[in-house]
Amino acid sequence: MNIEVINRFDELIDECIETFESLDFPEARAWKSAEPGRALIGCFPVYAPVEIFHAAGALPVGLAGAGNRLEISHADARFQSFVCSIIKSTLELGMVGKLDDFDGLVFHSICDPARNLASVFTRNFPNTRVEYVHFPQRLHSEEAVTYLEREYRRILDWATATTGRSVTDEELRRSIALYNAIRTGIRWLYDFRRAEPHKLSTRELYALVRYGHVAPPEKHLRLLTHAFDELQRREGKPKDRARILLVGSFCEQPPLDLIASIESAGCYVVDDDFLLGRRFFSADVADSRNPLRDLADAYVNHSVDSSVKHDLGHSKAEALVARARAYDADAVVVLTAKFCEPALFDYALYRKAFHEAGMPHVFLEFEEKMWLFDKVKTEIETFVESLLFT
Ligand code: SF4
Repeated sequence: MNIEVINRFDELIDECIETFESLDFPEARAWKSAEPGRALIGCFPVYAPVEIFHAAGALPVGLAGAGNRLEISHADARFQSFVCSIIKSTLELGMVGKLDDFDGLVFHSICDPARNLASVFTRNFPNTRVEYVHFPQRLHSEEAVTYLEREYRRILDWATATTGRSVTDEELRRSIALYNAIRTGIRWLYDFRRAEPHKLSTRELYALVRYGHVAPPEKHLRLLTHAFDELQRREGKPKDRARILLVGSFCEQPPLDLIASIESAGCYVVDDDFLLGRRFFSADVADSRNPLRDLADAYVNHSVDSSVKHDLGHSKAEALVARARAYDADAVVVLTAKFCEPALFDYALYRKAFHEAGMPHVFLEFEEKMWLFDKVKTEIETFVESLLFT
C-alpha cells in the first residue's frame, strides 16, 4: 500500500482492510524479499515483546487467525471441538502453507489452548523455530521484573539465533522508541474517537490499528501520522446513539462486519479491547540504560488490564465499571470469542460488578466463521432502545 498517493480517507481504510484480510501477508512478504537476511516472526496474541524481534532485524507480524476466509480442513483433527476459532485457524494457516515464509513463531502463556498450539506447531513443523514466552503470573512479587527481564534475555537470544544478527542496547532502545511512537499514535486515535465518535468509526479505527500487525512499523507510523492529519479536518454531526464500552475481544478478533453491525445498531463505541497487544502499555516504555528491564517493567507495572494477565493487586471488574463511568458510557457490551476461557472467567466477575453498580450490559459470543449478523444486530438494537427510551 502506497500511503502517500492515497488521497481519500475511506480509500485508505479500504486498503488497510484489504491488506490485513489477505491470508498471504503481502506487506510482510514484500518487506522480507526486499533485502537478503530479513526475517518474519509471527506473534500470537495477546501481547508480544515486538521491540526485541524488530531490533534483531525481523518484522514481528501479528497472527490474528484467519477470520471467515479459510476453510478448516486439517486443524480440526488436532484439537478438540470445544476450542476457540483462532487456535484452529492459526494452525490451518500453517497447514496450508500460508506461514511458510515465517522464520519463527512466538506464543505466550495466556491460556491452555495457546500453550497446546505452540506444542502442536513444534510437532507438526519441525523446521520452523517455535518459541514460548512465560509471562510472570505473580505480578506483585518483588522478583517479577527481574524474572521477566531474564525471560526477555532468553527470547532475545532466540531472536538473534533466528535472524543471525547480534543486537546492541542502542538498537533495542531505537526499536522501543519506534513502538512508543506507534502506541502514542494509537492512543491519540482512541482519545479522538472517545471525544468525537461521529468522526471516526470503530471499523475505521480498527483498520488503522490492525494494519500495523501485518506491515513494517515504520510504515504503520506513517499511516498513523497521515490519519492524524486527515482526521483533524474531518467534519460530522453527532447522532443520538448509546455510548458503549466494548470488552472481551482481546485475543481472537470478531469479524469486521460484526463490529460494523454493532455500530450501525445505534452505538458509539467509546473504548474497546480489540488488538490489545500493540497498545498494551498505559505509558511509554522508559528509556534507561537497560532496555530489556524497561520492557519488563512496562509489562509488570504499566500494562493495561486484560483477562490473560493475572494482577491480583486490584479488581479488574471494579476498574472496568470505573472506566465506563469515566468515559461516560451508557452501557458495556461484553463480546467474547466462543470457548475463550479467560474471557468467560472474567465475565462472571464483571456481571456481579455491573449488577452492583447498576451498569447495564449485554453479553454476546462470536466465532470467526460468522456470516450472518442480523441476530446480533437485532439484539443490540433492542438493547440500545432499552437504554435510550427508559
Ligand atoms: S481466544 Fe481466549 S482461549 Fe482462545 S487463544 Fe485467545 S485467550 Fe486463549
